[in-house]
Amino acid sequence: MTADSINKTFKEPSRDIKVCHEADVVVVGGGPGGHSAAVAAARNGARTVLIERYGHLGGMASGGLVILIPHMSDGGKEPQIAGLCLEWMNRLAKIPGGMVGPTLDEVGSSDPRVLARWKNHFSAIVDGKIRLTWTVDPEMLKCILNDMVEEAEIKLSLHSWGTQAIVEKGAVKGVIFESKSGRQAVLGKVIIDGTGDADLLPTAGVEFDGALDAKLRSSMLALVFRVGNCDFKKYNDFREKDPKKAQELSGELAKAAGTFFLPIAGHRDDVVWVNNWIPGLKSTDVDDLTKLEVSVRRMMRKGFEFMKKNFPGFENSFILDTASQTGTRGSRRLVGEHIVTAEDMNSSRKFDDTIAVIPKIAPGGSGGCAYIPYRALVPVKMDGLLVAGRSFSSDKIANDSMNLIPHCCAMGEAAGTAAALAIKQGISPRKVDYKTLQKTLVKQGAVLPGINIA
Ligand SMILES: Cc1cc2nc3c(=O)[nH]c(=O)nc-3n(C[C@H](O)[C@H](O)[C@H](O)COP(=O)(O)OP(=O)(O)OC[C@H]3O[C@@H](n4cnc5c(N)ncnc54)[C@H](O)[C@@H]3O)c2cc1C
Repeated sequence: MTADSINKTFKEPSRDIKVCHEADVVVVGGGPGGHSAAVAAARNGARTVLIERYGHLGGMASGGLVILIPHMSDGGKEPQIAGLCLEWMNRLAKIPGGMVGPTLDEVGSSDPRVLARWKNHFSAIVDGKIRLTWTVDPEMLKCILNDMVEEAEIKLSLHSWGTQAIVEKGAVKGVIFESKSGRQAVLGKVIIDGTGDADLLPTAGVEFDGALDAKLRSSMLALVFRVGNCDFKKYNDFREKDPKKAQELSGELAKAAGTFFLPIAGHRDDVVWVNNWIPGLKSTDVDDLTKLEVSVRRMMRKGFEFMKKNFPGFENSFILDTASQTGTRGSRRLVGEHIVTAEDMNSSRKFDDTIAVIPKIAPGGSGGCAYIPYRALVPVKMDGLLVAGRSFSSDKIANDSMNLIPHCCAMGEAAGTAAALAIKQGISPRKVDYKTLQKTLVKQGAVLPGINIA
């Protein structure tokens, strides 16, 4: 590219865009945050449209192949996160092979027999106690998420990219999206950004923070892949018998592949998902995204060859698939009415408007809970807009620890419920009464342990 072409611009001619739907609530992005927001809004009586860029729902939990849904409890017997995320699990549990993980009866247990049963299940045991942590079949997850959307009578548009917020008089009034049908608009009374990357904020003129810290996991992208026809039990037995050798092999794998690959138990004994952490690339830069897809596939081939040759249990394995969604751990974050800080998280600061209780994952043990206020979903100035999911208003450190799948489901459920309440009462989402929101959330199955909602 020449210096001249970098500076060139093209003036897009203005044109009329077809309004294809008018709804109460429009949600863009069908991942854990957006899907939960849409379902909660619709179940609370709002006519809801859900726009998703891919051909399926679930975001990172399905398309991203991040199939581990961990830490919904803090080591005690009761979950800190329930609601729609627990509903996913209950629905998947009815499908043979849909999910694997400790049962609700086993949560909080320190019984050695229970611990032995789940010792190889990543994140299931913290401080000698069972946590509510499940691993899901991503294909079945896509199916049950469709079911939930159909049952709630949500108007779903797949293969549709939300590209621009429609703003009038200080409020977001709709979204322009692109699809094979062209460029269309959908109007709504409340718009919820569930894109994870907060894609609507720049065109809505809403303040956001895109700064990431190179030392934190949230700055690292990934392309998760799965390996099939493994014998994961054999692999685990080997790691248990010879941890030194296993560690050596893991170092040699990183050398062979050119990056660190971590195989994690899948939803069946013959499938693993391989996590990775690629630094120095941004999820909102198309050149970086392209580089990631190409370079990780190259590293995957080298790494897989090494695993197949050297890892006990991988002898007959094959690469099952790569994620259709780039693994983005952190991106743009709303600057909202409250910014959740590391200090809030570390001091377990409770808020009057808490809408999600997050069990902490302190190194070496459980460390109580952290709390997310409703105000972290609400922009400071712009009306008619909420965020749902990992783009919640937070600093780099808090976001790094508080954007797991169950956290995003809980935030999404709150955003969708608040949107429906605002519409029913004819008020702006920022004016929604916290207590009414909390009581509605609890009535519909969410839990807010330790929060006084009376
Ligand atoms: C490699 C990796 C490993 C992780 N490990 C874990 C783990 O083990 N357990 C855990 O709980 N969490 C884990 N996380 C974090 C977790 O997956 C995410 O933080 C969480 O999924 C965020 O949910 P979300 O709904 O905010 O965003 P996403 O899951 O990213 O969903 C966003 C959705 O919006 C859609 N979308 C995006 N842009 C647009 C647009 N412009 N128009 C229309 N649709 C759009 C996407 O296609 C997607 O469906 C991991 C993340 C990564 C990347």
